[in-house]
Amino acid sequence: MPLTPSYLRSRELLATPLEQIRGVGPRILEKLRRLGLSTVEDALYTLPFRYEDRRQIRKIAELRNGLREVFCGEILASGEAVTPRSRKKIFEVIVGDGSGRLSLKWFHYRKEWMTKRFSVGQKAVFIGEVKFFGPMREVHHPDVEPLGEGGGGCDPASADPLSFGRILPIYPLTEGLNQKGVRKIWKDLVDRFAPVAVSPIPPRFLGARRLIPLGEALQQVHWPDGQTSLEDLEAGRDSARRTLVYDEFFFLELGLALKRRGIVLEKGIPFQVTHRYTKPLAELLPYRLTDAQRRVLGEIKRDLMAPHPMHRLLQGDVGSGKTIVALMSALLAIENETQVAVVAPTEILVDQHFLQFAHWLSALGLKAAVLKGSTTAKARRQTLEDIRSGAVNLVVGTHAVLQEGVEFKRLGLGIIDEQHRFGVRQRGVLRHKGEGPHILVMTATPIPRTLSLTLYGDLALSVIDQLPPGRTPVETRIIEEKNRSQAYALIDRELAAGRQAYVVYPLVEDSEKSDLKAASEGAEFLQKTIFAGRVVGLLHGRMKSDEKEGVMAAFNRGEIDVLVSTTVIEVGVDVPNATVMMIEHGERFGLAQLHQLRGRVGRGAEKSYCLLMRSLQCSAEGSRRLQVMTETNDGFRIAEADLEIRGPGEFLGTRQSGVPDFRVANLLRDGRILEEAREDAFSVAQNPEFLRGDDFADLRQALQDRWGNRLELASIG
Ligand code: ADP
Ligand code: MG
Repeated sequence: MPLTPSYLRSRELLATPLEQIRGVGPRILEKLRRLGLSTVEDALYTLPFRYEDRRQIRKIAELRNGLREVFCGEILASGEAVTPRSRKKIFEVIVGDGSGRLSLKWFHYRKEWMTKRFSVGQKAVFIGEVKFFGPMREVHHPDVEPLGEGGGGCDPASADPLSFGRILPIYPLTEGLNQKGVRKIWKDLVDRFAPVAVSPIPPRFLGARRLIPLGEALQQVHWPDGQTSLEDLEAGRDSARRTLVYDEFFFLELGLALKRRGIVLEKGIPFQVTHRYTKPLAELLPYRLTDAQRRVLGEIKRDLMAPHPMHRLLQGDVGSGKTIVALMSALLAIENETQVAVVAPTEILVDQHFLQFAHWLSALGLKAAVLKGSTTAKARRQTLEDIRSGAVNLVVGTHAVLQEGVEFKRLGLGIIDEQHRFGVRQRGVLRHKGEGPHILVMTATPIPRTLSLTLYGDLALSVIDQLPPGRTPVETRIIEEKNRSQAYALIDRELAAGRQAYVVYPLVEDSEKSDLKAASEGAEFLQKTIFAGRVVGLLHGRMKSDEKEGVMAAFNRGEIDVLVSTTVIEVGVDVPNATVMMIEHGERFGLAQLHQLRGRVGRGAEKSYCLLMRSLQCSAEGSRRLQVMTETNDGFRIAEADLEIRGPGEFLGTRQSGVPDFRVANLLRDGRILEEAREDAFSVAQNPEFLRGDDFADLRQALQDRWGNRLELASIG
């Protein structure tokens, strides 16, 4: 399949090693290497992180107070001085340009170097914030660019074009490389190589999205012409940068689109909707489904009836009622003589799901089983046999369900709850436990749309954007350590009204005291002193599975008033009578975790409270997180704030989260472009010729060039 000569040439030239570039000596090469740059392409994509407007050089007499200005002048005097008041040494340089004079000051410097650099008579350009002190004008720590001998002086028309008369790029390289030197190398590279850069994205898209050809964009982003304002450049709104971002996103989305297409082309099990179990269940339920649940269920049904496997992400805030949607979907699968696997990340959550699923299934004359790491060998053998023979309609379990040896008679639907706790690979494992089973993954971590498009871009998305009726929003308060008694008073009041409370301890990082110890000491303290007349329970991750079950069940039945725990209760636990969530050292938790924890209360019609304890050592960032919690109950808003505070890399905790590293794009800033690129890429991938046609050869090659195997991360395996 032939590539077009222009794309071939572009690939070849951009891959040129930097050592073959004139002007890049071994010393600089070594530095560039350390920055991870080895080819021309690496360098072209090392973009200015800001720009400086040097179109106008001001006369010293016309400088304005408080602004960053560019001016040019001759050094009239220079030397070390002592400040009159604090008697500190400074280095001072007096500069004049005929219109006036001004003093440059350095408070940190190396004297020898400064003396050599600022000799009387030397001309230079200076950039810095001008300060007026009465009649005195000063600039502290200016940027200085000396002008060479006979370099045209300060006349912008004849000055060095690498330094003046235009908007200049400032590169993110420092350490022994000066801006001027870097600028010169980059200018040569850009002049020579940017014009040959070609992106095979169909030109019709560029027109529609107001973008420019790639080569032009690379030139403009390094050396903007006079058309673009400094403001637009700094905000990344200029057409050059938008083009590069679009280009990057386009190929990512093209990869995701192909994956999605791969799934869609697979053979699945088309279900029929018989209502045999779903209708009776709807009649048994003590409530009506919300409109959002109904809509989402409709989307799922449509997928299940298609001849290809469903691959859908169900997103819904904590408490939005995802479980019942999962149950309804499961019944559809069972109506079609297939089995269902439900996978959840923790044993507590598995137990809870099992209770619920088993309850409704047995009411319908169906059979559910549970499979956990702690299941005894004997019970496990029996369960595996029941799954294999088809005696069991649905199995709920932890990772244990994904292990080898768990074989289904006919798996029709796999459900993964709290997807964000799993790697992406589990989806693939589940898929291979049947012949094209439908897959539904659920998450309560509301992922900002831009992030979910990159992370789960190969999944169809359903959102439950409505809570069941009758919930009052949880009231959230930050409580200082010294006001601790207020928290206890509030809990006491709720307990007196017949409600229950959680007290959660964070993971302790330093090994002096484990979170387990903190929690068990906390429980003991509360039981002996504050809540002596009540039942205080303890739950932590190192308890045996049946102990945990016992404690949760007792709390569920209302036999425990205050449940002290480590973060094991974070996900999915559902006890509507609990109305207080007290979180010790609230500042040590991430926003997503705090939101999950708070989601454990506010599940009934009663008013609920979330008390965030803040200790004295709380950092500014910690405080900001707590503040966000008091400002909103909306998981999406919280997720956006989280993404802003932490950035996408850390947002999901691990590097394996599947968020690719972008060279140019920024998920926070470029969401709109991502959506445009996605729409266009998906329309290309839908073309039946895409995988074979000669017209698409460049696009296919570019996809390989840009992302190669890195896209595997987001893959469904
Ligand atoms: P999540 O989406 O966090 O998994 P759950 O499925 O655990 O939420 O549901 C939270 C609570 O809301 C449960 O107690 C559930 O019984 C209840 N619930 C779910 N749907 C409705 C509804 N339509 N009307 C009233 N309560 C509902
Ligand atoms: Mg849930």
